[in-house]
Amino acid sequence: MAELERAAETRETAAAQRRKPAVGLQPEGDVDWSQYRGVLVVVEQRGGIAKKVSWQLLGEARRLAAKLQVDVMALVIGHQVRHLAQEAIYHGADKVFLCDSSELRDYRTRPYSRVCLHVIRTYRPEIVLMGATYTGRDLAGAIATHLPTGLTADSTMLDVDENRLLLASRPAFSEKMLATILCKQFKPQMATARAGVYEALPRDETRTGEIIEVPPQMPPAEIAVEVLEFIETKNRVNLEDAEIIVAGGRGLGGPGPFKLLKELADALGGVVGASRAAVDLGWIGHEHQVGQTGTTVRPKLYVAVGISGAVQHVVGMQNSECIVAINKDPNAPIFKIAHYAIVGDLFQIVPALTRAALARRQGQAGSEVAASAGAVPAGAAASSRGGAKAELNV
Ligand SMILES: Cc1cc2nc3c(=O)[nH]c(=O)nc-3n(C[C@H](O)[C@H](O)[C@H](O)COP(=O)(O)OP(=O)(O)OC[C@H]3O[C@@H](n4cnc5c(N)ncnc54)[C@H](O)[C@@H]3O)c2cc1C
Repeated sequence: MAELERAAETRETAAAQRRKPAVGLQPEGDVDWSQYRGVLVVVEQRGGIAKKVSWQLLGEARRLAAKLQVDVMALVIGHQVRHLAQEAIYHGADKVFLCDSSELRDYRTRPYSRVCLHVIRTYRPEIVLMGATYTGRDLAGAIATHLPTGLTADSTMLDVDENRLLLASRPAFSEKMLATILCKQFKPQMATARAGVYEALPRDETRTGEIIEVPPQMPPAEIAVEVLEFIETKNRVNLEDAEIIVAGGRGLGGPGPFKLLKELADALGGVVGASRAAVDLGWIGHEHQVGQTGTTVRPKLYVAVGISGAVQHVVGMQNSECIVAINKDPNAPIFKIAHYAIVGDLFQIVPALTRAALARRQGQAGSEVAASAGAVPAGAAASSRGGAKAELNV
């Protein structure tokens, strides 16, 4: 399916490139870029449920739009997704383009990119943002080559300068430096953005906005790809959307103790994450890695177990709402960003927390069990972000 789709895309792209100036060259003639105004976020959804990154990008778009003094626009594509157009307004959009059709129930590159191209060419946003997810990367690339314009992939920082240029920054050269990429010669300026990095605005039901219906742009007969079935990968960890993550590092000493972390994660209703050290040692799969070269996360609770707090790990989890760190070294850097610091041996503390969490679920007094389990010495509490905490109620 992907190959068919790619072959069709390649033919279209070649045709588009014959018609348009190549990316990187000055556009022919005088182009009046001042007609391009506003920030557009392409909302990603599956089965009527939006990816969190879409709301995060609307929050970021509002910040950029305030600087540029323009509107925030959103584009929702799918089937039976009108509620998402309304949600986009609650999350910061002033204007939402809605393309709702049974033909667009499943994501396919060509019909989706045709809708995006139509909206971009008609309404001319100066900036277009989408999540750096599998779908976002596929769609953004297809659109950028057709317009044509530049595209910064996987940005982790966005800003605008006094010339209305988008400053899209992302790690470069094996993540050793941060590159800021500008698209000076074409509009719109496009970027995909890493999930978990940007902050969504609180959902505000009092916000109002305009919803503009957009028809599908490709006759069904021309769509070469048919989606027959979706088969979910079993046991796939979804760190991006997880509300609770229990992450383990080199301090676990081997792959076996990840079972302890899984038990705690299950008791709390969360998933297991890991530091790169644990992943590189082959103790757990890369899909669990949190950090600069892993996933950036923003859960409600992040429990860091036997993780020292190297900067490359911290950049991927520092925006968690509540960070609990368990480490036997009271000077471990992770305690500087933790809200709750637990100094001690993880092999005693993690099972105690699991018992407390299970007890709480079963309706027992969690604090009693936590106390009996001996949680929580607070030797490093003075350096922890939230100040001293003598007790942790799981
Ligand atoms: C370009 C680049 C990109 C990188 N990207 C990432 C990334 O995405 N994610 C990432 O995590 N790292 C990344 N790293 C690696 C990072 O620099 C660190 O090496 C790594 O995060 C360390 O992992 P760790 O904290 O598990 O191990 P360590 O630093 O070895 O820490 C282990 C901790 O466990 C504690 N400990 C040991 N035994 C116990 C016990 N019984 N009970 C309690 N605590 C115990 C120790 O006190 C120590 O603090 C990257 C590095 C580079 C150069």
